[in-house]
Amino acid sequence: MTCGVATLAGRSIAADRTHRVTSSTDLPEPPRPADPPELPELLELQTLVRLAGPWMAERRLCEVEAGGRRFPVNAYLLGSDRPDVPAVGFFGGVHGLERIGAEVTIAYLRSLVMRLPWDQTLHRQLESIRLLFVPLVNPGGVWLGTRANPRSVDLMRNAPVDAVDRVPYLIGGQRVSATLPWYRGVEGAPMEAESAALCAIVEEQLLGRRFSIAVDCHSGFGLTDRIWFPYAHTARPIEHLPEIHALCDIHDQTLLHHRYVLEPQSRQYLTHGDLWDHLYLSARSRRDGGVFLPLTLEMGSWLWIKKNPRQLFSRHGIFNPMITHRHQRVLRTHLGWLDFIMRATGSHARWVPTGAERERHRVEAMARWYEGPNSREGRAR
Ligand SMILES: [Zn+2]
Repeated sequence: MTCGVATLAGRSIAADRTHRVTSSTDLPEPPRPADPPELPELLELQTLVRLAGPWMAERRLCEVEAGGRRFPVNAYLLGSDRPDVPAVGFFGGVHGLERIGAEVTIAYLRSLVMRLPWDQTLHRQLESIRLLFVPLVNPGGVWLGTRANPRSVDLMRNAPVDAVDRVPYLIGGQRVSATLPWYRGVEGAPMEAESAALCAIVEEQLLGRRFSIAVDCHSGFGLTDRIWFPYAHTARPIEHLPEIHALCDIHDQTLLHHRYVLEPQSRQYLTHGDLWDHLYLSARSRRDGGVFLPLTLEMGSWLWIKKNPRQLFSRHGIFNPMITHRHQRVLRTHLGWLDFIMRATGSHARWVPTGAERERHRVEAMARWYEGPNSREGRAR
């Protein structure tokens, strides 16, 4: 029997509401959250929830406090809730300063929501794919204008993974002091609420499936837009290098004039505590683990600064495009790529290599990223 997506999505919302009602009768009354936050990103998401109606479920993963206010970390779910369909997750705002990452994620969600009333192709896609959005992982950091969360922890250094090779001083993650950037948090302490919430929803919605992809949108590194895949904690290749290379092939063929550089993060620098390394390793350790490909979009903000050097004088300007037409172009450019990722996920059975073809991809990927003169090792020589 084919279930309508509306019914499935509607049921998810009902289940979430039921859960909330049950919880409130079992537990003492929690402190009342502050008035609805004035973060424009959260207001936009509220509008999208209203517009999407029964097609999208909103779920509160946790709440965080910043500057005397409480902000929710919300997930938004669309598509089939069958466990045997592939899934893709889109994430933004892990680093509060990199607002453009949240905006790109929300812009893509908006484009999907606006297509719901009229696009039959989208509805067919949603019958056989699960979509997860967490556009504002660190709302407290966005509110305060900081890279770290309100407790001064850099969420992308907060996972329990230690680099096996040498990391750059400070930037690779440090436990010296919360007053310095790239702070990992106290050794042995549980992950921060935002990191734990992200890991829990990824475990629940993405891992354990035959195929899933995560896209985490950041900005601030270099002149070009980069797409990074694990690892960040070691220069070793991941097990699913052939799948990454095959994805790279169809990406090059489909988006002919794209300007993304796809590479392992380890080619640039190593870090401790990378959340995606942690989740990739977690996927690998599961019995029901399939292919999970976590990707990080690193939008090259130095280009925006080069074209508008005055941005250097504002902390916000170092990480975000400040001029309206450039801001719009950034949002526009990445929508095509995010849509490509959604389609590649839905059609993974048509391009994920097997047997000898998989081996060929591994050999080519090793030569391209790990063994050639441009590999990290090659350049260090
Ligand atoms: Zn970042």
